[in-house]
Amino acid sequence: MDIWAGYRRRRMLTWAIPAAVVFIASLLALTDRYNGPWVFIAAVITFGVLYFWFERWPCPRCGKPFTHPKRDLTFSQKCCHCGLDLWKQPEHSGTRHQQRH
Ligand SMILES: [Zn+2]
Repeated sequence: MDIWAGYRRRRMLTWAIPAAVVFIASLLALTDRYNGPWVFIAAVITFGVLYFWFERWPCPRCGKPFTHPKRDLTFSQKCCHCGLDLWKQPEHSGTRHQQRH
């Protein structure tokens, strides 16, 4: 069980879904079906909601949100609360997380 799987999924979806919306909107812009900038507004709103969701992913060691809002759109390389490095296994996670890939 990868403790970072949830983090990876949230981070991927946070970017992929708005990017897909913009991509589809761009395709529609080439046709007659494009009807205004609302799709881009929707993409921004979608990104905001998803980023908020991504930000709330709890650190595997301290349980507080791993990312920090002030870092904006860059991804934190370590927990801003306990300093756990990205992709590292927390020390006290017990034998269940000792498997190495
Ligand atoms: Zn932490």
